[in-house]
Amino acid sequence: MPLKRPHKLSLSRRIPMPLMSVMIGLFCGLLVWALLDQVQPQALRSIFNQELETRLDQQARETLIRFDNYVLAHTSTARLLANHRQLANYLEPVYWFKGDTDRPKQYRSTPPWLPRSTLWQSLVRPSHILLLDNDGGIREIYQLGERPLPAELAGATELLLSEQRVQANLTTLGDLPYLLISETAEDATGTEMGFLMLVAPIDAQFLAASQQGVSPNGVLVGILEADEQRFLASSDQFRLPPQQRLSAAESDFLVTAQSFSEYEGSTLNLQFATLVPRSVVEAMRDRVAGLERRQRLVAAFTFVSVFTLVFFLLSARLNKILQRVSRFSQRALGSKQPVIERGNQLFVLEDWIHQFIQLVRDTREEMRQQHETEMHESEMLKQAIMETALDSIITIDRQGVIIEYNPTAEQTFGHCREEALGKVFAELIFNGESRPRFILLLADVLSSRDRLPDEMRHELTAVKRDGAVFPVELAIKPIRLKNRLAFTIYMHDISNRRRIELEIRSLAKFASESPSPILRVNRRGVILYANGASDQLLSYWGCERAQTLPLYWRHRVTDILGSGEDWQTQVIGATWVYSLLLTPVVDLGYVNIYGRDITAEREAERQAREHQQELIHVSRLSTMGEMATGLAHELNQPLSAIANYANGSVRRLQASDRGAEDILYALGQITAQADRAGEIIKRLRALVGKQTPVRRIADINEVAREVCSFVEFAARKAGVVIEQEFSLGTLPVKIDVVQIEQVLLNLIRNALDALLEIPEDERSLVIQTSCREGEWVLIRVLDSGAGIRDADMDRLFEPFYTTKESGMGMGLVISRTIIEDHNGTITAEQRAEGGTCFSILLPSTLSR
Ligand code: ADP
Repeated sequence: MPLKRPHKLSLSRRIPMPLMSVMIGLFCGLLVWALLDQVQPQALRSIFNQELETRLDQQARETLIRFDNYVLAHTSTARLLANHRQLANYLEPVYWFKGDTDRPKQYRSTPPWLPRSTLWQSLVRPSHILLLDNDGGIREIYQLGERPLPAELAGATELLLSEQRVQANLTTLGDLPYLLISETAEDATGTEMGFLMLVAPIDAQFLAASQQGVSPNGVLVGILEADEQRFLASSDQFRLPPQQRLSAAESDFLVTAQSFSEYEGSTLNLQFATLVPRSVVEAMRDRVAGLERRQRLVAAFTFVSVFTLVFFLLSARLNKILQRVSRFSQRALGSKQPVIERGNQLFVLEDWIHQFIQLVRDTREEMRQQHETEMHESEMLKQAIMETALDSIITIDRQGVIIEYNPTAEQTFGHCREEALGKVFAELIFNGESRPRFILLLADVLSSRDRLPDEMRHELTAVKRDGAVFPVELAIKPIRLKNRLAFTIYMHDISNRRRIELEIRSLAKFASESPSPILRVNRRGVILYANGASDQLLSYWGCERAQTLPLYWRHRVTDILGSGEDWQTQVIGATWVYSLLLTPVVDLGYVNIYGRDITAEREAERQAREHQQELIHVSRLSTMGEMATGLAHELNQPLSAIANYANGSVRRLQASDRGAEDILYALGQITAQADRAGEIIKRLRALVGKQTPVRRIADINEVAREVCSFVEFAARKAGVVIEQEFSLGTLPVKIDVVQIEQVLLNLIRNALDALLEIPEDERSLVIQTSCREGEWVLIRVLDSGAGIRDADMDRLFEPFYTTKESGMGMGLVISRTIIEDHNGTITAEQRAEGGTCFSILLPSTLSR
């Protein structure tokens, strides 16, 4: 069933799949980007903040380290000055009394205890350098700038020295942070005289110098009074004036405050602050935001293009696969649908699948209907089979109750269907004898599978409704249904078969009762059957029943089966002769041999032959009798010649005037004539004498010539010269010479008789011999006599037909018998020019 054409596609369905996939790819790319964009900037900002924090910390650490290093440089300078030889030399003669209250010695220029060389170079000069005695009292003051010595120092230095004993001390003096660096001072003898102290105000100059010119992006450092949250000094007093509060500074700066670990001695809570201008941070933040924007754009582009590309490639691939699926389905279903070359394959395929499902539904419905029809047909077929089956077909359930019963069963057993259904099969159909056997068979069928058809057949005795008992052949076939087991029983009334078997058995007796031999041999020549009359034959062959025939006969059996034709032969025993007819039964591969005792027939034939010989002899005698006069004359001639020669010899002997030569000649003639006479008599005897027929190969020309010489006298007497037209070559034939001579003699004699009836000058007798077709020898006797009337022609060869007064009418009959005995023919015909022509055809031995 062809699929319907898809409906006209809607706009969305007409959009090609690649375009649609690009649109979906765009949408998905944007969606994913939008989702990720929610998360990414936050992460980026937090990374930025962390990074900023780290960098601020790092920067703060660096500024502090630079500050510390700077302080360390001052400390080193203090140590250098305190341990300088110039100071030691200066102090050598000096002695500071404890109770001295003199004002400390003031210097405005370089004091004598300081080396004149430039010490400060990159360092900011301290405001003062003090020499203190061991009690902390200031003994000498060197003022390096304009700044006066802070008043707090004048009285409290001892306190600073005695308590801390640290080299560097950070403290506030009059609201200004100061760095006080003290170092032990000794005189040249090594006596500790006191201390050398550097007093350095930590002001903007100091702080700026401490950073050694490293101040990226306007970063400031400052000293923070942590308790009061105000700055005491900064590296740029304009941007961050002293005494500014932390909160105020934080509006412009990001402040990182660190404790001074090096200067723990200070009682003040001073902290080192690193101030990064907010403008710098904001600029950095702006840069990061710009970067972030660019990144977002790149991400958006990447997502959109990747998704679009992936969707496009996937859709292109999918499109191809769908096209292939469609084509395959199209080919598989032999459908012309769907049209798949354009439009969105997914929708096309969806349409197509809808239609395909519909088609499947329709087909299923069709199949269901077809199945129903087939079931119906099958049911009808089964019904027809059941109704027309020649066998009784009965179906029983597991309990043996009849559930199906066909019309043949109705006819066979006499119970109608309604009557039989629901009855127990074994009880209804079998008598007491067969019932247990059937139950056993049923059990047997259940227990064994895969039986040969023959093994499934059983013969039992069934009972008809009227009580008549008859034999049945039965086969049981179990039917294993889904939930139950049933048996179909095929039954066949075999009464007829039994009767036919009996008949066959009785028929078979025919053969055994036959007085003639009847045998059956198989292809290999084994005697399968031989009736009682075959014993003589079996003993002749020297074999028994169930044995094989002699080799010659086995070959004949094979030949006959091969050719499929009957073969007849004779078997001659010592006292019997059998005619055997061998008939092949090709289909079964048997040869039946039917024998017939023909001993009596053969004996009769032999006797008939003897009679015939006798007859031939008599006929010959009769012929010879007729020729006796001629023969006497024939004999007379040599005998007269003998007498003449004998008389002549006597006279010559008496006269004695002649020589012995003449006498010898005469005696020679006597001998020759006597031989001739003897020859004639010998031939006569041969003709007249009784002898058993002997066949030998002889030249027919010789035989004819002999006969001619034999009748020479008779012919001469009739005034006929026998013309001998013999073939040049020899014509060998296997004949009984005496008999063939008898035939020729008879023909010539008849011819001479016929010639006597016409004037002497018209008489002619010709004897011809020739070869015919290489296989036959033809002998013709032609005379110019009166001939034979057409009416008489048919009777010529009848016994006792004669037109002669003294004739016997047996000559031609015997002649034909002899010639046919030689497998030849003899015929007579009228010559056109008058006269008769007798023709004899004899088989030649030339060709053999
Ligand atoms: P028979 O010579 O004793 O009569 P045959 O059987 O030899 O018996 O011949 C039968 C008859 O056939 C003869 O009587 C004669 O009438 C006829 N017949 C045979 N040969 C010839 C012949 N050559 N010409 C004419 N008639 C012939």
